[in-house]
Formats: sequence, structure tokens, C-alpha cells
Amino acid sequence: MSLTQADGGSGRIDVLRNGVLHDGSASDGKPGDVWIQGDKLLAVLPPGAAPPAQAEPGNFTVHDCAGMVVAPGFIDVHTHDDAAVLDHPDMLPKLSQGITTVITGNCGISLVPIVTDEPAAPLSLLGRRQFRFESLAAYRRAIDQARPGVNVAALIGHTALRMQAMASLDSPASAAETQAMSRVLDDAMRAGALGMSSGVFYRQAYAADIHELSSLVKVVAAHGGVYATHVRDELRGIVQAIEEAALTARTAGAPLVLSHHKCAGPENWGRTAETLPLIERLAREQPIAMDVYPYTAGSTVLREDLVDGVIDILITGSEAHPEMVGRYLKDIAALWGISQKQACQRLQPGGACYFQMRQDDVDRVVAHPLSMIGSDGLPHDRHPHPRLWGAFPRVLDQYWRIKGTLPLAQAIHKMTGMSARRFGLGGRGLLKPGYFADVVVFDPDKVRDLATYAEPAQFSQGIEQVWVNGRLSFIGRDKAIAARAGRFVERSNMKVAS
Ligand code: ZN
Repeated sequence: MSLTQADGGSGRIDVLRNGVLHDGSASDGKPGDVWIQGDKLLAVLPPGAAPPAQAEPGNFTVHDCAGMVVAPGFIDVHTHDDAAVLDHPDMLPKLSQGITTVITGNCGISLVPIVTDEPAAPLSLLGRRQFRFESLAAYRRAIDQARPGVNVAALIGHTALRMQAMASLDSPASAAETQAMSRVLDDAMRAGALGMSSGVFYRQAYAADIHELSSLVKVVAAHGGVYATHVRDELRGIVQAIEEAALTARTAGAPLVLSHHKCAGPENWGRTAETLPLIERLAREQPIAMDVYPYTAGSTVLREDLVDGVIDILITGSEAHPEMVGRYLKDIAALWGISQKQACQRLQPGGACYFQMRQDDVDRVVAHPLSMIGSDGLPHDRHPHPRLWGAFPRVLDQYWRIKGTLPLAQAIHKMTGMSARRFGLGGRGLLKPGYFADVVVFDPDKVRDLATYAEPAQFSQGIEQVWVNGRLSFIGRDKAIAARAGRFVERSNMKVAS
């Protein structure tokens, strides 16, 4: 098709012909055609079926998808793209993976409602320039104005609420502070937030007790929202941390998403054999899901307490010593003739990849029926974790094609239909007439991540076309953005069949 072709508005029709359709529901792929009109899916038809009545000869454009998989656009349920969608609205790292919607505000960290020029850690994970939104309504307007390449749906971060409302972060919120935070959260839920996230792992939220958390999650529950949490402890205390998260959600009456579930630290390796049955047991009593990225390294701000002298630590950013970015902490420490902990102090503030997981744990979580895929990519790091550019194609390559632990339909479901249903993104995540036309076309023989720890900003291969709200937005062959058609996506309590 011609990229200069004018958008004919709601009348414009495209057909993705002869692909293998995976509709996002986890049912098996089958050959067929996907018809797009305007920003919606017009029809999903078997090969050779008569075109829909709206399609007349000459008024539609045919895209041959023979040999390709056609699926709903991927939903990245765990991002820190809050500011990136405004700073870099092309969103190339995400669009190029087939991602059409990002969920921002994870781990307790969101732009809303903080207004400052000097964001402290961990808010600084979102860069420094965009802390200017007191309300979700204001953020929403900015998104619609910036028109990023991907759709944006937002969680409100509990740490951000605390930092705005509380005098001291070292104790649980008082009744008045809880009330102040509840008002901001309620206002955000009315403006379309998906729910609240927390990051009680981080010092700024660690003092929050279950009363503070469940009081806020109740506000979310009243609007049909979700509670996502980076639990208090992913190391030795993982079981208690999961139980606390489940109790918080259950007390408040909200569905729970455990963020980037992992068993971190050498002494904890292998314990997904314990945590996954626990999560399954809890999930029989209350709605619980989790997200996961397919790598053995985590990444966050530089933290001395994670420097144990055993695991490898790769520096992804350092304000004090930018020349050390991309090098391993143990090499930096050796170069400077000091301990790794001392080197960590000297590099502050900054970020790092921590090789804190074992492959078999990651594999179990990725393959688990309650997990969804979320990149957790950090777009503001100078030398980011490769998950920013490669998480989704990596799941398809590693878990479907190479290891065979996930059938293709199941892998796609974890990136689409399940994600939309768990987070309340109505009208997305499935190939179904009337749904928004967010679609990815990929080559099942070629799809593969190329981003590595050494070279993290690499395009994946095999992602051929990405459609956002009915607009062809990324063309794999040219590695090029063709349009920016993303929107703010509000919470929808519409039930989407799984
Ligand atoms: Zn997190």
C-alpha cells in the first residue's frame, strides 16, 4: 500500500488477507482474513468468504499476509513509559515489538499526581522532565495531544500518592493522609485510571501497612479497578510478601496482579516451585494474575542492598560516572581498587541490571497459565535492559519456537486477550468484529529478539506490520514508523471473554 495514501476516515477499508489468525483467546490459529474499517475491526472471515457488504471493488486495500501470523496487537502490561510516550512519542522500542498498548504507572511509580523539577528516586525512573500532572485528566489530555505511536492506559502509583500527600514517608499514612490520597485516587479512577500500583519494595513505600494499602485499594475496587503490586520482598521473604499482597486485595475486594513475579537472589533460586502453587491456591479464592519478563536479570535504580558479591550487576546509568555505563560492577570495583558496595555508592545515583534470577524459575513463571507478559522496560536508562526492545519477540522465540513450553496460541493470549481482560481494557486484545483494530502481523519462522545486554537498542526481527486503531503504524521491512495513532485508553468494566 502507499503510505502517502490519505486516511479516508471511517470509510477507509483494509484487508489483511491469507494470514493464520490467532484471535488472542488462546484458541488455535486458523487461516482467514481480517477486515479493518476506520479504527475498528469490520470482519474476521475464513479464506474465500464473500467480502463484508461495506467492501466494494476498488474501495479497499489488500495486504497479502500469506505465511504470516495475524494477531491482536500486543499489550505491554508492565511499563514505565509514563513520560516516554510524551518525550519520545514514536515509541519505537515498543511498536517494533508488535506492542500497540502500554500500561503505565507500575511499581507504585507514576507521573500523576507529582509536580516537580527534581523527582527523587524511585520516581526518577521516569526521567525528570514530565512531572507536571496533578491529575489523570491533565495527563490524559497531554497523551491525546502528543498522539504517541501506542495506546496508553494508566495505573496510579501508590509511592507517587505518598510522596505528594505525606510529610514523612517513614511511617504508615495517618487517617488524614490516607483520606487525601484517597481523594486523588478517586479522582483518577473517575478519569479512567485502570487502578493502583504499589511498590512497597521501595523505601519510600516500605512503611505502608496493610491498613493504608487496603484503604486505598478499596477506592480502586469501588470503580472496578485492579491492584498491581511490586511486592515487599522478592528475596527470602517472597512467600509472606505474596500473602500480604493477596490479603490486601482480598480485604479491599479488588483483583490482584503480582508484578514481575520472581524468586530473586541465589539463596532463593528454585523457589517458584513453592510460590506458583501458593499463587494457584490463592487464586482459587480471589482473582489473581501476575506479569513476567523473559530474562534472568532484573533492573532498577542502583541499590546497595542488592550488591551481594555473588550476582553480576551491569551498570545501566550513573550520574556521577557516566563513563562506567555498560560495564559490570565487579570490573569497576576492581579498576578502582575498592569493594563492589563502595563502587555502588560512588556511582550513585544510577541504575543497574541485576542477574538475580535462575533460568528454570523464569521459565516456570513464563509458562504458567496465570502469567501475562510485561516488559518492565526502562526507557530513560542510557544503556537499558534489553527487555525494553525485545521482551515480546523473545517470548515467542524462546518459549514457543525453541523450548516449546508455550503453544503459540497460549503465548499470544498472554500478550493480548488475557492482558485486556485482567486490566479492564474493553474492546481490545481480541480479533473480533467491533473491537479496535490493533493488530500485529509477524513471520512465525523469523520472529526473534536481537536486543542483548551488550547491545540493548536493537530491533527485533520478524515483526512485519503493526496496526494501531486501524492505522498501519510500523513497517518491519523498513524499520520505520508509518503513523502515530495511539490514544489514551480508559478503564472499561466491559467483560471481555477470555
Ligand atoms: Zn517493579
